[in-house]
Amino acid sequence: MTTHVSSPTDSADPPRNLAVLVTTLHMAVPIAMRKIAGLTDHERRELAGQSAAWVAEHGDDLLYGGRHCAAAYTMLARGLAALAFTPGGVTFVGKHWCIRPHLDCPTPQASLLHARMCGIDSTPATRVS
Ligand SMILES: [Zn+2]
Repeated sequence: MTTHVSSPTDSADPPRNLAVLVTTLHMAVPIAMRKIAGLTDHERRELAGQSAAWVAEHGDDLLYGGRHCAAAYTMLARGLAALAFTPGGVTFVGKHWCIRPHLDCPTPQASLLHARMCGIDSTPATRVS
């Protein structure tokens, strides 16, 4: 099952810099995925939780600019990257990231690309080492 993270696009009045956020996350998340590919599932779960807490606390800086904007952006990308490793991957602001094929994948070739970028095998029977 894909994890859907609620996003600013769900708002009736999205922030002006949302397009920049969406565009840059498209590549920032796969880069973050590569960086955390060596973590254990437990470590990725902890990272996702830490990222969610950070973004919840500093999301306004991320969307409207502020002292924690860069850090919040990094934590958002890392959190989404961690969720990309879960079964079904993650969808946020209309973008989807995953590492293994799954039935409801909106971008079926993405899992193969993301897995290759992370240097891992995307077949379901293979565990990330
Ligand atoms: Zn997918």
